[in-house]
Amino acid sequence: MPENVPHTAQSPPDYHTHTYLCKHAEGTPVDYAFHAAGKGLPAIAVTDHSPMPDDYDPEHRMAADRFAEYRNLIRCAQEVSPVPVLAGVEVDYVPRCAMAVRDWLQRQSLDIVLGSVHFLDYWAFDDPSQRYLWDSADVIAVWKKYFGLVRAMVEMELCDVVAHLDLPKKFGRRPPLKVQREIVLPVLDLIAAKGMAVEINTSGLYHPVGEAYPSPDILSWAAERGIGVTFGSDAHLPERVGAAFDLAVGLARECGVAWHPLCHRRPQA
Ligand code: ZN
Ligand code: FE
Ligand code: FE
Repeated sequence: MPENVPHTAQSPPDYHTHTYLCKHAEGTPVDYAFHAAGKGLPAIAVTDHSPMPDDYDPEHRMAADRFAEYRNLIRCAQEVSPVPVLAGVEVDYVPRCAMAVRDWLQRQSLDIVLGSVHFLDYWAFDDPSQRYLWDSADVIAVWKKYFGLVRAMVEMELCDVVAHLDLPKKFGRRPPLKVQREIVLPVLDLIAAKGMAVEINTSGLYHPVGEAYPSPDILSWAAERGIGVTFGSDAHLPERVGAAFDLAVGLARECGVAWHPLCHRRPQA
């Protein structure tokens, strides 16, 4: 398992972090900012799980009435942090909530929005407590369904960055490469057409699959399409900020993907 080593001035910003407000992470934006500065990261984005309509996965996200507190915490961090702190969220794409999420996002002024798919209907396919459902799953059908949702999310331009693009591999279940190509390439084409970024998410290195999201193959296909990347630790603890970013930077270089211009974004005034 890679170590959480110190970084150099060449580190990218960490654009994927969570706070205590989502009920399954620890720390505040200030904590993340100071850990990031200590590791030589040039900036962070705070991207906690956004509020969703009431019945959607309330245990893993901030309640709607805590969002003002969230914005306040980010504002406080921006005042004292040695490094720029972007205000962001990680939104979930789920068809029955998508319009409500889009309307909600339009009323916020955020620096960055990550888009994720964590649910296939009511299956939290990446949740270790529901891992057993993979045993009877048709892996190709799951991947097709998942990428169909990602495609719909990109189509409606719900986000700036597609987070952990090949998340269904979390427990090591993925189709043969030829089938992955058929499933993933049309989605990459659409991401490229929209000018969106794909995230290199290092949390996968610590999951059963033992590999960042997305895979080197998918990153190479992204590179061929001119898609740029951002970098995210998906830290749920402040000390995990920037985890394995040295490996992520090396991966980007090996796969020939460029840093997306978002990597140089500054917080809105
Ligand atoms: Zn989380
Ligand atoms: Fe996520
Ligand atoms: Fe996350």
